Amino acid sequence: MTIKAETVIIGGGPCGLFQIFELGLHGVHAHLVESLPHVGGQCAELYPDKPIYDIPAIPVCGARELVDRLMDQIKPFNAEFHLGQQVTVVEKLKDGSFHLKTSVGTEFQTPTVVVAGGVGSFEPMPLKVGDIETFTGRSLFYSIKDPLLHQGKRLMVLGGGDSALDWVLNLQDKAKSMTLVHRRHDFRGAPASVAKMKALVEKGKMDLHYGNVSDYSENAGELCKVEITSLEGKITTHPVDHLLVFFGLSPKLGPIAEWGLNLDKDKIQVDTESFQSNVPGIYAIGDISTYPGKKKLILSGFHEAALAAFAIKAQLNPGKKVHLQYTTTSSVIHQRLGVESPKKKAG
Ligand code: FAD
Repeated sequence: MTIKAETVIIGGGPCGLFQIFELGLHGVHAHLVESLPHVGGQCAELYPDKPIYDIPAIPVCGARELVDRLMDQIKPFNAEFHLGQQVTVVEKLKDGSFHLKTSVGTEFQTPTVVVAGGVGSFEPMPLKVGDIETFTGRSLFYSIKDPLLHQGKRLMVLGGGDSALDWVLNLQDKAKSMTLVHRRHDFRGAPASVAKMKALVEKGKMDLHYGNVSDYSENAGELCKVEITSLEGKITTHPVDHLLVFFGLSPKLGPIAEWGLNLDKDKIQVDTESFQSNVPGIYAIGDISTYPGKKKLILSGFHEAALAAFAIKAQLNPGKKVHLQYTTTSSVIHQRLGVESPKKKAG
């Protein structure tokens, strides 16, 4: 079934989220598609615990906190979220509207699209050892979709960040054996998780090695052994059923490059009045957009979202002027926000 939408926002970073708000003020309902299983873009993925100091009127705000605040702010507009799916197809239909399709088969028809794809879709950084990639989804995993799948298995986790540590702690007592391999002595993950993991190692409940995977063996088409070269160059071999790799995520522009949009160094060229691209009906805001003087800041993306919303409202209501209304005084906006309008003074 194709979802009919007024607008579809591609990308759930801070700018895509704020786009929902700005459209909502104009009474435009949005669907948002995000390739990760959660919203937040770079803020959530690259620096969740770092403080941001240049959000107007908030002297300091954690990156994750900013995403939470945005989610709170857009609640009244009941946007629909389609997470864990990448928009792969954007094609123009004869009537001027667009057909969108995602990696899991969700389809939309919409007259307007806002690309808020940032630096692209985040994809796991691969383990590069021979042809080990061919085991992906069978005995090599870059994400855990169903923890039960790994129960009772000999697990080896690679990585030193929060994802690696969280899954070590989560699966250790369910696995037949657990080995963590990290390429250096420092861990990027939360100190509390590192301490818990080291306590398990001390109790003999799991193994910890510092080094890199240097080779592997297979049996009947599945991984069965992994060779680790330690930081000192010593080689050890470990029996393994499932290898779980958490090297972090890196952004890739991906399918956005194929939608017929004018690009400049992987960024979508827009005009600064409407933030529309060369394809009428497709807008671009945030880090993915470019124009003379562009600065890749959240603040700039918020401004771009406000102007794109005016342009989209105008496109959806041809011939009608889109008036500027203040959130402080507009009763229409108060209704949309679900807040009470201040009573007019009598007399
Ligand atoms: P992103 O945050 O990149 O989000 C884009 C989203 O789109 C991603 O989640 C991606 O998965 C998704 N996506 C892409 N393609 C598709 C597709 N085809 N289908 C579905 N989803 C897709 N800025 C500041 O203003 N102040 C700061 O202090 C600051 N500090 C920073 C510190 C660091 C370490 C970094 C890396 C950046 C910092 N920035 C800062 C920059 C800021 O994070 C970015 O400007 C901001 O995240 C851009 O938001 P966005 O919504 O445009 O894109």
